[in-house]
Amino acid sequence: MEEKVAVYPGSFDPITYGHIDIIKRALKIFDKVIVAVAHNYDKQSLFTPQERVEMIEEALRDCPNVVVESFEGLLMEYMKRTNAKVVLRGLRATSDFEYEYHMASMNRSLNKDVDTIFMVTGKDYFFISSRTIKEVASLGGSVEGLVPENVARRLKEKFPQLHRPHNI
Ligand code: ADP
Repeated sequence: MEEKVAVYPGSFDPITYGHIDIIKRALKIFDKVIVAVAHNYDKQSLFTPQERVEMIEEALRDCPNVVVESFEGLLMEYMKRTNAKVVLRGLRATSDFEYEYHMASMNRSLNKDVDTIFMVTGKDYFFISSRTIKEVASLGGSVEGLVPENVARRLKEKFPQLHRPHNI
């Protein structure tokens, strides 16, 4: 029987427990999940694509059916190259819906052989986004329990808390 493969694309800048929850649940449905880290030139990223791939690999070391890659350009071209037919995306709140709906429809118009499936976020993770994680970490707040330890460590390296002002 053909292997069931899902491609989970995103910026993952950095990966959070919200993403990991989606990946682990998808592994119960698919034989293999390819986490595809996008080079987004229009998005200012904190971590390089290489760093993002490394962090995901470290965090998912115990999941043998996960493959981590980075890609440039159109997702639908990447799908053709990997010969995968399913895109996996996570849905948090209604605010994610409109963007995801447009992307899925656009991708389908580019390639009719590919479908996007959505998994709704786990109840403990609905408020986690890479953007808020970076914001909190940059201000010296704790992101413990929201991102894997290796990611928390790298965030600390990016934002050393040496000369933090108290009151301004
Ligand atoms: P992008 O820049 O493509 O939106 P992200 O790395 O922000 O990439 O997210 C990748 C996917 O994971 C998206 O489908 C996003 O909605 C989903 N996602 C992000 N955070 C969470 C979370 N906390 N729970 C569930 N899904 C999430």
